[in-house]
Amino acid sequence: MAKRDYYEVLGLAKGASEDEIKKAYRKLAMKHHPDRNQGDDAKAAEEKFKEVKEAYEILSDEQKRAAYDQYGHAGVDPNGGGFRGGPGAEGFGGFAEAFGDIFGDIFGGGAGGGRRGGQQVYRGNDLSYAMEITLEEAANGKDTQIRVPSWDNCETCGGTGAKPGTKAKTCGTCGGSGTVHMRQGFFSVQQTCPHCHGTGKIIPEPCTSCNGAGKIKRQKTLEVKIPAGINEGMRIRSAGNGEPGSNGGPPGDLYIEIRIKPHDIFERDGDDLHCTIPVSITTAALGGSVEVPTLSSTLEIELPEGTQHGKTFRLRGKGIKGIRSSYPGDLYCHITLETPVKLTEHQRKLLKELDESLKKGGDKHSPNSKSWTDRVKDLFK
Ligand SMILES: [Zn+2]
Ligand SMILES: [Zn+2]
Repeated sequence: MAKRDYYEVLGLAKGASEDEIKKAYRKLAMKHHPDRNQGDDAKAAEEKFKEVKEAYEILSDEQKRAAYDQYGHAGVDPNGGGFRGGPGAEGFGGFAEAFGDIFGDIFGGGAGGGRRGGQQVYRGNDLSYAMEITLEEAANGKDTQIRVPSWDNCETCGGTGAKPGTKAKTCGTCGGSGTVHMRQGFFSVQQTCPHCHGTGKIIPEPCTSCNGAGKIKRQKTLEVKIPAGINEGMRIRSAGNGEPGSNGGPPGDLYIEIRIKPHDIFERDGDDLHCTIPVSITTAALGGSVEVPTLSSTLEIELPEGTQHGKTFRLRGKGIKGIRSSYPGDLYCHITLETPVKLTEHQRKLLKELDESLKKGGDKHSPNSKSWTDRVKDLFK
Protein backbone atom coordinates (compact mmCIF):
# COMPACT_ATOMS: atom_id res chain seq x y z
CA MET A 1 0.00 0.00 0.00
CA ALA A 2 1.33 3.43 -0.90
CA LYS A 3 2.27 5.57 2.05
CA ARG A 4 -0.04 8.49 2.71
CA ASP A 5 1.27 12.00 2.56
CA TYR A 6 2.23 13.16 6.05
CA TYR A 7 0.35 16.44 5.71
CA GLU A 8 -2.71 14.57 4.54
CA VAL A 9 -2.43 12.23 7.54
CA LEU A 10 -2.58 15.22 9.86
CA GLY A 11 -5.23 16.94 7.75
CA LEU A 12 -2.99 19.92 7.03
CA ALA A 13 -1.77 21.91 4.06
CA LYS A 14 1.88 21.81 3.09
CA GLY A 15 2.82 25.17 4.55
CA ALA A 16 1.27 24.44 7.96
CA SER A 17 2.87 26.18 10.94
CA GLU A 18 4.58 24.36 13.80
CA ASP A 19 1.65 25.22 15.98
CA GLU A 20 -0.89 23.82 13.55
CA ILE A 21 1.11 20.60 13.29
CA LYS A 22 1.24 20.25 17.06
CA LYS A 23 -2.49 20.88 17.44
CA ALA A 24 -3.49 18.49 14.68
CA TYR A 25 -1.25 15.81 16.15
CA ARG A 26 -2.69 16.19 19.65
CA LYS A 27 -6.25 15.97 18.39
CA LEU A 28 -5.67 12.91 16.19
CA ALA A 29 -3.43 11.13 18.69
CA MET A 30 -6.14 11.47 21.32
CA LYS A 31 -8.76 10.20 18.93
CA HIS A 32 -6.82 7.12 17.81
CA HIS A 33 -4.97 6.37 21.01
CA PRO A 34 -5.01 2.59 21.70
CA ASP A 35 -6.25 3.18 25.25
CA ARG A 36 -9.40 4.82 23.92
CA ASN A 37 -10.12 2.34 21.16
CA GLN A 38 -10.93 -1.15 22.34
CA GLY A 39 -12.82 -3.99 20.77
CA ASP A 40 -13.39 -4.23 17.01
CA ASP A 41 -11.82 -0.90 16.16
CA ALA A 42 -8.65 -1.52 18.16
CA LYS A 43 -6.53 -2.73 15.25
CA ALA A 44 -7.54 -0.01 12.83
CA ALA A 45 -7.11 2.64 15.51
CA GLU A 46 -3.64 1.40 16.35
CA GLU A 47 -2.62 1.65 12.67
CA LYS A 48 -4.03 5.17 12.49
CA PHE A 49 -2.26 6.12 15.71
CA LYS A 50 1.08 4.89 14.36
CA GLU A 51 0.55 6.73 11.10
CA VAL A 52 -0.25 9.98 12.92
CA LYS A 53 2.73 9.57 15.24
CA GLU A 54 5.12 8.96 12.36
CA ALA A 55 3.80 11.97 10.45
CA TYR A 56 4.24 14.13 13.51
CA GLU A 57 7.76 12.89 14.21
CA ILE A 58 8.85 13.91 10.74
CA LEU A 59 6.93 17.18 10.40
CA SER A 60 7.78 18.45 13.89
CA ASP A 61 11.51 18.11 13.19
CA GLU A 62 12.76 21.04 11.18
CA GLN A 63 15.41 19.08 9.31
CA LYS A 64 13.32 16.02 8.63
CA ARG A 65 10.45 18.15 7.48
CA ALA A 66 12.69 19.98 5.02
CA ALA A 67 13.89 16.65 3.67
CA TYR A 68 10.33 15.41 3.39
CA ASP A 69 9.16 18.56 1.64
CA GLN A 70 11.94 18.19 -0.89
CA TYR A 71 12.03 14.44 -1.44
CA GLY A 72 8.82 13.04 -0.02
CA HIS A 73 8.96 9.69 1.72
CA ALA A 74 12.25 8.89 0.02
CA GLY A 75 13.85 11.77 1.91
CA VAL A 76 13.06 10.46 5.36
CA ASP A 77 13.26 7.03 6.86
CA PRO A 78 11.23 6.77 10.07
CA ASN A 79 12.52 3.25 10.64
CA GLY A 80 15.95 4.54 11.27
CA GLY A 81 18.08 3.32 8.37
CA GLY A 82 20.58 5.34 6.47
CA PHE A 83 21.09 8.71 7.94
CA ARG A 84 19.43 8.47 11.34
CA GLY A 85 22.07 7.70 13.97
CA GLY A 86 23.20 10.46 16.29
CA PRO A 87 26.02 12.75 15.41
CA GLY A 88 29.36 11.03 15.49
CA ALA A 89 32.71 12.50 16.37
CA GLU A 90 33.01 16.15 15.43
CA GLY A 91 29.35 16.17 14.62
CA PHE A 92 29.66 13.89 11.64
CA GLY A 93 27.23 11.27 10.50
CA GLY A 94 24.11 13.15 11.46
CA PHE A 95 21.37 13.90 9.08
CA ALA A 96 22.18 17.48 8.28
CA GLU A 97 25.84 16.64 7.87
CA ALA A 98 25.15 13.93 5.35
CA PHE A 99 23.05 16.39 3.41
CA GLY A 100 24.99 19.50 4.09
CA ASP A 101 25.15 20.10 0.41
CA ILE A 102 21.42 20.27 0.15
CA PHE A 103 20.60 21.83 3.49
CA GLY A 104 23.58 24.07 3.93
CA ASP A 105 21.64 27.04 2.73
CA ILE A 106 18.82 26.31 5.12
CA PHE A 107 20.73 25.32 8.23
CA GLY A 108 24.17 26.72 7.65
CA GLY A 109 23.32 29.92 9.46
CA GLY A 110 23.99 31.97 6.37
CA ALA A 111 27.22 33.43 5.15
CA GLY A 112 28.32 36.98 5.40
CA GLY A 113 28.65 39.33 8.25
CA GLY A 114 26.77 40.74 11.10
CA ARG A 115 27.71 43.34 13.62
CA ARG A 116 29.19 42.76 17.00
CA GLY A 117 30.54 45.35 19.38
CA GLY A 118 30.46 48.04 16.74
CA GLN A 119 32.67 46.16 14.31
CA GLN A 120 31.84 44.25 11.21
CA VAL A 121 32.04 40.51 11.94
CA TYR A 122 32.72 38.02 9.21
CA ARG A 123 31.90 34.36 8.97
CA GLY A 124 34.95 32.31 8.01
CA ASN A 125 35.26 30.85 4.53
CA ASP A 126 34.04 27.34 3.83
CA LEU A 127 36.67 24.78 3.00
CA SER A 128 36.34 21.79 0.77
CA TYR A 129 38.13 18.51 0.93
CA ALA A 130 38.07 15.91 -1.82
CA MET A 131 37.98 12.36 -0.54
CA GLU A 132 38.42 9.35 -2.77
CA ILE A 133 36.87 6.09 -1.59
CA THR A 134 36.29 2.69 -3.15
CA LEU A 135 32.92 1.47 -4.35
CA GLU A 136 32.86 -1.05 -1.49
CA GLU A 137 33.43 1.75 1.02
CA ALA A 138 30.68 3.79 -0.58
CA ALA A 139 28.31 0.84 -0.33
CA ASN A 140 29.13 -0.11 3.26
CA GLY A 141 30.04 3.24 4.78
CA LYS A 142 33.36 3.97 6.40
CA ASP A 143 34.78 5.55 9.53
CA THR A 144 37.95 7.34 8.70
CA GLN A 145 40.18 10.21 9.71
CA ILE A 146 41.38 13.15 7.69
CA ARG A 147 43.95 15.84 8.33
CA VAL A 148 42.49 19.30 7.91
CA PRO A 149 43.79 22.78 8.61
CA SER A 150 42.92 24.34 11.93
CA TRP A 151 43.77 27.71 13.43
CA ASP A 152 45.03 28.45 16.90
CA ASN A 153 45.37 31.82 18.54
CA CYS A 154 48.93 33.05 18.09
CA GLU A 155 50.78 32.52 21.37
CA THR A 156 53.25 35.30 20.74
CA CYS A 157 50.67 38.08 20.53
CA GLY A 158 47.78 36.35 22.28
CA GLY A 159 45.66 36.64 19.17
CA THR A 160 45.79 40.42 18.87
CA GLY A 161 48.11 40.39 15.84
CA ALA A 162 50.19 43.20 17.35
CA LYS A 163 53.85 42.79 18.18
CA PRO A 164 54.27 42.16 21.93
CA GLY A 165 54.64 45.51 23.69
CA THR A 166 52.70 47.33 20.96
CA LYS A 167 48.96 47.79 20.57
CA ALA A 168 46.47 47.89 17.76
CA LYS A 169 45.14 51.39 17.16
CA THR A 170 41.63 52.41 16.37
CA CYS A 171 41.30 52.95 12.65
CA GLY A 172 41.26 56.64 11.87
CA THR A 173 39.29 56.25 8.65
CA CYS A 174 36.21 54.68 10.19
CA GLY A 175 36.71 55.61 13.83
CA GLY A 176 36.74 51.94 14.80
CA SER A 177 33.31 51.07 13.40
CA GLY A 178 34.72 49.08 10.49
CA THR A 179 32.35 50.78 8.09
CA VAL A 180 32.34 54.04 6.21
CA HIS A 181 29.48 55.98 4.64
CA MET A 182 29.89 56.89 1.01
CA ARG A 183 27.65 59.48 -0.53
CA GLN A 184 26.20 58.48 -3.89
CA GLY A 185 23.92 61.21 -5.16
CA PHE A 186 21.14 61.54 -2.63
CA PHE A 187 21.97 58.30 -0.93
CA SER A 188 24.42 57.44 1.76
CA VAL A 189 25.77 53.93 1.33
CA GLN A 190 27.44 52.00 4.13
CA GLN A 191 30.57 50.17 3.07
CA THR A 192 33.30 48.12 4.72
CA CYS A 193 36.17 50.41 5.64
CA PRO A 194 38.83 50.01 2.94
CA HIS A 195 41.59 50.96 5.35
CA CYS A 196 41.10 48.38 8.12
CA HIS A 197 38.96 45.95 6.07
CA GLY A 198 36.18 46.08 8.62
CA THR A 199 38.21 45.24 11.70
CA GLY A 200 38.07 48.80 13.05
CA LYS A 201 41.70 48.48 14.04
CA ILE A 202 45.07 49.20 12.51
CA ILE A 203 48.10 47.26 13.67
CA PRO A 204 51.14 49.57 13.32
CA GLU A 205 53.64 46.84 14.22
CA PRO A 206 52.38 43.39 13.31
CA CYS A 207 53.39 40.34 15.33
CA THR A 208 56.16 38.53 13.48
CA SER A 209 54.96 35.04 14.41
CA CYS A 210 51.56 35.39 12.75
CA ASN A 211 52.17 38.39 10.46
CA GLY A 212 49.43 40.27 12.21
CA ALA A 213 46.75 37.66 11.64
CA GLY A 214 46.52 36.74 15.32
CA LYS A 215 46.09 33.13 14.31
CA ILE A 216 48.44 30.37 13.30
CA LYS A 217 47.50 27.68 10.85
CA ARG A 218 48.00 24.13 12.06
CA GLN A 219 46.57 20.76 11.25
CA LYS A 220 44.17 18.58 13.12
CA THR A 221 42.72 15.13 12.72
CA LEU A 222 39.03 14.90 12.11
CA GLU A 223 36.95 11.76 12.49
CA VAL A 224 34.72 11.34 9.47
CA LYS A 225 31.77 8.99 9.27
CA ILE A 226 30.89 8.29 5.68
CA PRO A 227 27.30 7.05 5.50
CA ALA A 228 26.64 3.79 3.68
CA GLY A 229 25.22 4.32 0.21
CA ILE A 230 26.92 7.64 -0.45
CA ASN A 231 27.45 8.43 -4.10
CA GLU A 232 29.89 10.28 -6.29
CA GLY A 233 29.77 14.04 -5.87
CA MET A 234 27.81 14.05 -2.59
CA ARG A 235 29.15 16.33 0.08
CA ILE A 236 29.36 15.80 3.81
CA ARG A 237 29.28 18.96 5.85
CA SER A 238 31.31 19.31 9.00
CA ALA A 239 29.92 22.41 10.62
CA GLY A 240 32.41 24.89 12.02
CA ASN A 241 35.51 23.21 10.64
CA GLY A 242 36.16 25.77 7.95
CA GLU A 243 38.30 28.89 8.24
CA PRO A 244 37.88 30.96 11.38
CA GLY A 245 35.67 34.04 11.28
CA SER A 246 37.01 37.46 12.05
CA ASN A 247 36.08 39.89 14.83
CA GLY A 248 34.32 37.09 16.64
CA GLY A 249 32.38 35.92 13.60
CA PRO A 250 31.52 32.22 13.34
CA PRO A 251 33.84 29.84 11.49
CA GLY A 252 32.95 28.50 8.07
CA ASP A 253 32.11 24.88 7.38
CA LEU A 254 34.18 22.10 5.94
CA TYR A 255 32.70 20.18 3.03
CA ILE A 256 33.99 16.73 2.22
CA GLU A 257 33.28 15.92 -1.37
CA ILE A 258 33.12 12.25 -2.24
CA ARG A 259 34.86 10.78 -5.27
CA ILE A 260 34.49 7.09 -5.98
CA LYS A 261 37.38 5.23 -7.59
CA PRO A 262 36.52 3.30 -10.74
CA HIS A 263 35.89 -0.35 -9.95
CA ASP A 264 37.47 -3.26 -11.82
CA ILE A 265 34.20 -5.09 -12.26
CA PHE A 266 31.22 -2.92 -11.41
CA GLU A 267 29.77 0.26 -12.76
CA ARG A 268 27.32 2.09 -10.56
CA ASP A 269 24.15 3.72 -11.78
CA GLY A 270 22.30 5.19 -8.82
CA ASP A 271 21.58 2.23 -6.57
CA ASP A 272 22.07 -0.31 -9.36
CA LEU A 273 25.27 -2.04 -10.34
CA HIS A 274 26.20 -3.30 -13.78
CA CYS A 275 28.82 -5.84 -14.75
CA THR A 276 29.79 -7.69 -17.88
CA ILE A 277 30.15 -11.48 -17.74
CA PRO A 278 32.13 -13.17 -20.52
CA VAL A 279 30.65 -16.54 -21.47
CA SER A 280 32.00 -19.08 -23.96
CA ILE A 281 29.86 -19.79 -27.00
CA THR A 282 29.58 -23.43 -25.98
CA THR A 283 28.26 -22.61 -22.48
CA ALA A 284 25.87 -20.11 -24.02
CA ALA A 285 24.64 -22.70 -26.53
CA LEU A 286 24.38 -25.64 -24.13
CA GLY A 287 23.42 -23.69 -21.00
CA GLY A 288 25.27 -24.03 -17.72
CA SER A 289 26.22 -22.23 -14.59
CA VAL A 290 28.49 -19.20 -14.54
CA GLU A 291 30.00 -17.43 -11.60
CA VAL A 292 28.82 -13.88 -11.00
CA PRO A 293 30.52 -11.49 -8.57
CA THR A 294 28.60 -9.25 -6.19
CA LEU A 295 30.05 -6.54 -3.96
CA SER A 296 30.28 -8.96 -1.04
CA SER A 297 30.69 -12.47 -2.51
CA THR A 298 30.15 -14.50 -5.66
CA LEU A 299 26.99 -16.20 -6.86
CA GLU A 300 26.24 -18.77 -9.50
CA ILE A 301 23.60 -18.12 -12.08
CA GLU A 302 22.19 -20.75 -14.38
CA LEU A 303 22.26 -19.76 -18.04
CA PRO A 304 19.47 -21.31 -20.06
CA GLU A 305 20.26 -23.22 -23.25
CA GLY A 306 20.65 -20.87 -26.20
CA THR A 307 21.58 -17.73 -24.23
CA GLN A 308 22.26 -14.91 -26.70
CA HIS A 309 24.98 -12.31 -26.61
CA GLY A 310 23.89 -9.13 -24.82
CA LYS A 311 21.31 -10.93 -22.69
CA THR A 312 20.97 -9.24 -19.28
CA PHE A 313 20.19 -11.00 -16.04
CA ARG A 314 18.94 -8.95 -13.14
CA LEU A 315 19.80 -10.00 -9.60
CA ARG A 316 17.33 -8.25 -7.33
CA GLY A 317 18.69 -6.51 -4.27
CA LYS A 318 22.34 -7.16 -5.13
CA GLY A 319 23.04 -3.50 -5.87
CA ILE A 320 23.69 -0.73 -3.36
CA LYS A 321 21.32 0.66 -0.75
CA GLY A 322 21.48 4.39 -1.35
CA ILE A 323 21.44 6.94 1.45
CA ARG A 324 17.83 7.86 0.75
CA SER A 325 16.65 4.41 -0.33
CA SER A 326 14.68 1.88 1.63
CA TYR A 327 15.86 -1.06 -0.45
CA PRO A 328 19.10 -1.90 -2.22
CA GLY A 329 19.22 -1.60 -5.99
CA ASP A 330 19.78 -4.50 -8.39
CA LEU A 331 22.78 -6.04 -10.06
CA TYR A 332 22.57 -6.29 -13.85
CA CYS A 333 24.79 -8.93 -15.44
CA HIS A 334 25.32 -8.32 -19.12
CA ILE A 335 26.34 -11.45 -20.97
CA THR A 336 29.05 -11.04 -23.57
CA LEU A 337 29.88 -14.04 -25.74
CA GLU A 338 33.48 -14.92 -26.22
CA THR A 339 34.71 -16.37 -29.48
CA PRO A 340 37.30 -19.10 -28.88
CA VAL A 341 40.85 -18.28 -30.06
CA LYS A 342 44.11 -20.24 -30.59
CA LEU A 343 42.26 -23.30 -31.81
CA THR A 344 44.00 -26.66 -32.20
CA GLU A 345 43.56 -28.62 -35.46
CA HIS A 346 41.15 -30.90 -33.69
CA GLN A 347 39.02 -28.06 -32.36
CA ARG A 348 38.99 -26.41 -35.77
CA LYS A 349 37.77 -29.67 -37.28
CA LEU A 350 35.03 -29.98 -34.66
CA LEU A 351 33.86 -26.43 -35.34
CA LYS A 352 33.78 -27.05 -39.09
CA GLU A 353 31.69 -30.16 -38.51
CA LEU A 354 29.41 -28.15 -36.26
CA ASP A 355 29.17 -25.45 -38.91
CA GLU A 356 28.17 -27.97 -41.60
CA SER A 357 25.57 -29.44 -39.32
CA LEU A 358 24.13 -26.07 -38.36
CA LYS A 359 23.88 -25.01 -42.03
CA LYS A 360 21.81 -28.07 -42.77
CA GLY A 361 19.34 -26.91 -40.14
CA GLY A 362 19.00 -23.55 -41.91
CA ASP A 363 17.83 -20.46 -40.13
CA LYS A 364 16.26 -22.25 -37.23
CA HIS A 365 19.57 -22.38 -35.37
CA SER A 366 20.19 -18.67 -35.78
CA PRO A 367 17.15 -16.72 -34.62
CA ASN A 368 18.88 -13.34 -34.83
CA SER A 369 20.26 -13.91 -38.33
CA LYS A 370 16.86 -14.98 -39.60
CA SER A 371 15.16 -11.80 -38.46
CA TRP A 372 18.16 -9.83 -39.69
CA THR A 373 17.99 -11.35 -43.20
CA ASP A 374 14.26 -10.65 -43.28
CA ARG A 375 14.80 -7.05 -42.28
CA VAL A 376 17.48 -6.57 -44.94
CA LYS A 377 15.15 -8.07 -47.56
CA ASP A 378 12.37 -5.72 -46.48
CA LEU A 379 14.70 -2.79 -46.88
CA PHE A 380 15.17 -3.42 -50.61
CA LYS A 381 11.61 -4.42 -51.44
ZN1 LIG B 1 50.92 36.81 16.62
ZN1 LIG C 1 38.64 51.42 9.38
